[in-house]
Amino acid sequence: MADHYILMTYYAKYLKEIRRVSDSTVKHYQGALKHISRYLVKKEKLKETVYEIQNIESLERIREYLYADPEFLSLDKRGHQMYSAGLNNYYKFAKGVGFYNIHKHIQVMDMEVPVKGKYTYSSDTWRRSSIIKMQSIEAAGYLCEIDETHETFTAKSTGHPYMEGHHALSMKYQNKFSKSLDVYANIICLCPICHRLLHYGIAAEKETVLDKIYFDRSKRLTACGIKISKEDFKKLAM
Ligand SMILES: [Zn+2]
Ligand SMILES: [Zn+2]
Repeated sequence: MADHYILMTYYAKYLKEIRRVSDSTVKHYQGALKHISRYLVKKEKLKETVYEIQNIESLERIREYLYADPEFLSLDKRGHQMYSAGLNNYYKFAKGVGFYNIHKHIQVMDMEVPVKGKYTYSSDTWRRSSIIKMQSIEAAGYLCEIDETHETFTAKSTGHPYMEGHHALSMKYQNKFSKSLDVYANIICLCPICHRLLHYGIAAEKETVLDKIYFDRSKRLTACGIKISKEDFKKLAM
């Protein structure tokens, strides 16, 4: 197994800091996921681990597969439902349960995350909503972080205002940093207009937005081992 999966690191922190479960329970849940991962690799549903799954749809497919599989169900029964408990708690985490509107508190999740050895970011990654992006939007309470009065429409997938997750420092600059850019501190919840502005707008109109993002996030980025001056930040984000 690769040394580090971001979702594995964040899951442990989430259980401790947000769900506030005991250390022994964290170990139980992690152990359950390890067993489930092994089982799914054997069934050729995964390459290495549940933590490699980057989006909620794939995780839901895996979950449905397991709960329709008699072999898994009997394993779970013999294991006193530890497997399903582990799986259900991971699913809650991925869905962002406990993240809603925790604006200030989400800083407890900030930490340095090593860059994965084999970085497999495909060009269309930003179109799919990854688990970390969804959780970041949940944490922002579905409010645009540039101006919380920005209105969108209600998304049918969540029942909340439609928002998008944006990497303040684009993943394409990962090679410039020794720590992962795919961290909560680097992901901002934006209304579609602010988001498109940052990707397609002219520099003069992006200026104040980037100032605000740097002001709001530079400390948190530093806590994640991503140190950058305002000047350099704006250069990269322009
Ligand atoms: Zn973006
Ligand atoms: Zn906005």
